[in-house]
Amino acid sequence: MGNLFSYYTQILFLTLIIINHLWEIYLARRQANYLMKNRFRIPEMFAQDITPDDHQKSTLYADDKLRMTQVKLIYQLSLYLYWFPFRGAESLYMNVSNFTLTGDAVFLISFVMIQSLLSLPFSYISTFFIEKKYGFNRTTHKLFFTDLLKGLLLSSMILIPLLFVVLLTMSYFKNSWWVISFAILTIFQLGMLWIYPSFIAPMFNKFSPLSEGPLKSRIEKLLEEVGFHAQGIFVMDASRRSTHGNAYFTGFGKNKRVVFYDTLMDKLSDDEVIAVLAHELGHLKLKHIPKQIAISLVLSFFGFLAMYLLSRADWFYTGHFMRITSNGVLLFIFSFAASFYTFWFSPLSSIFSRKNEFEADAFACKYAQAKDLKHALTKLYKFNASPVQSDPWYVFFYYSHPTPTERFQRLS
Ligand SMILES: [Zn+2]
Repeated sequence: MGNLFSYYTQILFLTLIIINHLWEIYLARRQANYLMKNRFRIPEMFAQDITPDDHQKSTLYADDKLRMTQVKLIYQLSLYLYWFPFRGAESLYMNVSNFTLTGDAVFLISFVMIQSLLSLPFSYISTFFIEKKYGFNRTTHKLFFTDLLKGLLLSSMILIPLLFVVLLTMSYFKNSWWVISFAILTIFQLGMLWIYPSFIAPMFNKFSPLSEGPLKSRIEKLLEEVGFHAQGIFVMDASRRSTHGNAYFTGFGKNKRVVFYDTLMDKLSDDEVIAVLAHELGHLKLKHIPKQIAISLVLSFFGFLAMYLLSRADWFYTGHFMRITSNGVLLFIFSFAASFYTFWFSPLSSIFSRKNEFEADAFACKYAQAKDLKHALTKLYKFNASPVQSDPWYVFFYYSHPTPTERFQRLS
């Protein structure tokens, strides 16, 4: 029975590795074709603000990125084929691990390091070739590698102890480790969300409070109206790395804040800043972050339960091309193979996120003018050279935000 399960799992898993990658390549090609076909056609509602040159630039920029995505997907596909069916992960385990708890940790850390190193060329090409070509890049080589090193040190300092705690829990609590690990991970994730805005993000960027002036008093008035009493509004020096602009809402509890990129702040009028802020406050008031956290906790609870239920089934390990049964291997399969099964559910989170964006837009219109939000969005898309219209399948699968065309239709 076990052998049969193992065999079918291998076939299913191998099929998913291939199909998922091919599907993503197909979507990238669809999107590229859609944009190229429409490269001379600007939707009427943007015709006043987006020039044919802007539109052309956004098409070519997206096309370059999509080309790189396709190369990356083929590269990733071959890596996954190597790690799993060609048993690269199994031999890595044999080489670096001594079948102890520490060995399990060394295996997982080595795998993550190798994978990050192998994906490095893509972030390098993206920053120094594509972003540079379209005039967005401001990152120097020094900054690029400093960021990389900082990120590596920081994640090692945080994740390696966490990994040991989980592995120790797994070996000491034979039947309840999954609930305990789930609890530990939940506390850890909430802790990270809590400290991220005030401790981690400032290691990479400078966050300054808004300067005094008429805009600041308007913002304070809006915060008062909406009832937002937290750390407030910050401007981030995003211009150190790129000219792309954005604004986001982050943190929870007392650590909530709205962050504007300085690159966006420079381009928006006071009215438009108020409209964008009202949108971000919509995310806060409508409790979008707690809702997202709640969903991910429920999913991770079932993930741990599944891990526990499958932990004693030998076919589960061999089904994923690992002839070693250990806690480290179990964590490895759940961290790096499980996503091939959940891949087909990922549009659900995009749908949820797009629904939240429409809600935040509607909220914004109660405190700001719809026309100001439209102007701000147009500028955001124009200066980031983002396409204002996209292939519907591509949007359905990936987009966390509705296209501006869809947002405009609801705003009018
Ligand atoms: Zn939003």
